[in-house]
Amino acid sequence: MTEAINLKNYPLNDNDSIVVMFSKQKGLIRAVAKGVKRPKSKLGARVQMFIANQLMLFEGKNLDTIAQAQSVNTFSKIRSDLDKMSYSMYVAELVNNFCSNDYNKDENYCEIYDLIYATYDKIATSSTKEEVIFATLKFQIKLMNFLGWGLDFEYCSKCQKNIEDELNQSCFYSYSLGSFLCGECGDNINGVRIHNKIRLFLAELSKTNYLKKTKYDDLVNYAVLEKCFLFMKKYIDNLSSKKTKIFEVLEKTMLV
Ligand SMILES: [Zn+2]
Repeated sequence: MTEAINLKNYPLNDNDSIVVMFSKQKGLIRAVAKGVKRPKSKLGARVQMFIANQLMLFEGKNLDTIAQAQSVNTFSKIRSDLDKMSYSMYVAELVNNFCSNDYNKDENYCEIYDLIYATYDKIATSSTKEEVIFATLKFQIKLMNFLGWGLDFEYCSKCQKNIEDELNQSCFYSYSLGSFLCGECGDNINGVRIHNKIRLFLAELSKTNYLKKTKYDDLVNYAVLEKCFLFMKKYIDNLSSKKTKIFEVLEKTMLV
């Protein structure tokens, strides 16, 4: 038995699908779901995206098959809201792109599983788009930390000095280096100015448990959260050749 969250599914043939999941015990896995395209299939409802199931798998030569699935949490409110769907798909894309064995050899599956679960739970129960973005932003930061690619928010990557914390000043960030810089070093290499308030907010999120509030939570507004989300998205997209596509796809379909 294993507990797993569905991230993606695609057709194998007329009756069966392949489901990509993140499992608490084994990390990223894929398995065949037989007969799910038949109208009366019980399994069909359980292999939908974002559902967490308790699974029994039959081991196969190339691919395992789902023998039994019992849902633990369907996160049903995600599927009735376009924003919740989009951000949840982004979360699934990141896990799918970054949590394969090529990238993550730590086998810290349990903590990543709990993070995905907590994020989907938070997105599902959010009552505003602001809360959805906040849940996803915290996911971005925590996932990168777990994978060993967390950003250093405190020290300049060039001179190693502590970046000063004056709240009315800005520091620098370099997209090509993927790191923060102090005022002096940032001036020399044409970094982008980032307000210290933003950097300190992200630093606080990075240090704080996903489920806990930080002292800034009640102060941030939609614009700040969106800016932070897009900043992290760009940082993460630059780390891998596999870029996340969901928001670009949505933008294009809206234009048509
Ligand atoms: Zn410096």
